[in-house]
Amino acid sequence: MVIDCKHVWDHISGYLDGELSAEERAIVQKHLEHCEICSAILDSTRNILILTADERVFELPLDYSARLHARLDEEIRRLRA
Ligand SMILES: [Zn+2]
Repeated sequence: MVIDCKHVWDHISGYLDGELSAEERAIVQKHLEHCEICSAILDSTRNILILTADERVFELPLDYSARLHARLDEEIRRLRA
């Protein structure tokens, strides 16, 4: 199964949180192996999540997911520029 970058971005937070099924995880992993943009986004996202953990934010704000996606869009634009 071949997936595009957009599909990976939708799953990236779940991937980092270990919330994906084994099948989804394998698909995302396979894509990351050959896609530089998604690998870079994964690294950035991981950094954002580490920052969040460092601030001891146990209850995520309601708009957390929306902000994460906005941040991802920003990263994607930057990487493509
Ligand atoms: Zn990609």
